[in-house]
Formats: sequence, C-alpha cells, structure tokens
Amino acid sequence: MLAENYEKVKQEIKGAAARAGRDIDLVKLVAVSKTVGIDQVRLAADLGITDFGENRVQEAEAKVSAMPGLKWHFIGHLQSNKVKDVLPFYTLVHSLDRLSLAKALQRCAERSDIAVEALIQVNVSGEKSKFGLSPEDLSCFIAQMRSFDRIKIKGLMTMAPFVDDPEETRPFFSRLRKLRDENAGAGQELTELSMGMSNDYIVAVEEGATIVRIGSALFS
Ligand SMILES: *Cc1c(COP(=O)(O)O)cnc(C)c1O
Repeated sequence: MLAENYEKVKQEIKGAAARAGRDIDLVKLVAVSKTVGIDQVRLAADLGITDFGENRVQEAEAKVSAMPGLKWHFIGHLQSNKVKDVLPFYTLVHSLDRLSLAKALQRCAERSDIAVEALIQVNVSGEKSKFGLSPEDLSCFIAQMRSFDRIKIKGLMTMAPFVDDPEETRPFFSRLRKLRDENAGAGQELTELSMGMSNDYIVAVEEGATIVRIGSALFS
C-alpha cells in the first residue's frame, strides 16, 4: 500500500538522517514512477509527494503531460535526439554522462531560451553495465562544463552495484560524496548527491544523499 510504504520510507529517511546528524530537510525523495500509471502518480501526489522520476521519455510522456504541476526528474540514459522531448518538462536531468549530451542540452536550451539543471552521472563502481563518467574523468568534465552557459550543474548522481547486503554499497556512496567535495567550488555549486534506491537508500542517506530515487519500496 502506497500510503503505508511512504510512511515507512519517510521514517527510515528520518532515522538515517538523525544517525548521521543531518538535517532531514536536505533529503529529497524522488518517487520513481517508471513502473506505474497515472493513477498511482495521482495517489502519490495526494499524499504530498512532489517529485517523480522517470527513465524513459516515451513511456513517461502521458504521465508528465497529465501532471504538469509535479516536478519530474529524468533519471535514465538520455539519448541526444530525445533532449528536446525532455528539456521543458523536467526539473532536473540526473544523467549527464558525456560531452555530446551536454552539447545537445546546450543547443536545445539556447533554442528555447531556457536554462537546464543537471547532475553528472558517475560510474563509481566501474561496472560495464552502468552508464556514467569514470571518477578519474570527472574534474576535467566539470571544467569543460564552464563553457556551457545554459547548463547548471547541481551535483552528482550514481547507482551502486546491486547487492544483497546494502551495507556493501556504503563505499560507493562515500566515494561519490568525496568526489563532490573535491570538485565543489570549481565554478559549480555541486550541492546535490543523487544516490540511493529502494534497497540501499538508508545507507545513502547516512552517507550524505540529498536526493534518493525510490520506486519499488513505494509502489509495491
Ligand atoms: C528504477 C530506478 C530507480 C528506482 O529503483 P527501485 O529499486 O525501484 O527503487 C532509481 N534510479 C534509477 C536510475 C532507476 O532507473
């Protein structure tokens, strides 16, 4: 049940933030609605959830256009030719992972005379199945982003490996936090850390997540 799940997730986030001595208001919940329809999104919005995550442009289109008052986060791999379908409708792109995508975002934002907020996706674990920049390439990429005046880099995003014991994800989340701290101030704010999904968000919040992306723990 969504209402009970939401209550439980909120309590877990609160507990994790308290254990880490963190301000609960600095942790935003993005409800990942990729597997559910408009009805569930409406229910979630009625419960007070304001931010939703989708990873596929086409599948999300009906939901996004039906609920324009919500904040939509694009969390999936983004093809450059889909940028125009994402840009005006989404609050934050979590998956900036290459120069060619930055170029497409900049071009499209210029054309619509808007700015786009994005997170740089980092492949901290180095798994071949995952998208994202390698940690070694991050500072150079951030420096390159200075010439993209329409892109506001708000922080970093990562996905931890899928493991049975969430405790094993801790080093990946703390690594992302360290990368953020090392690169902050280089012309970009880098306040946000988008990390933590249904099975590892508690550890992620303990390690400094400012955005958690939660699907199945809410919608099942
Ligand atoms: C699906 C997805 C999530 C949510 O996953 P759950 O395990 O259902 O919480 C979070 N982030 C990304 C990038 C996703 O694709």
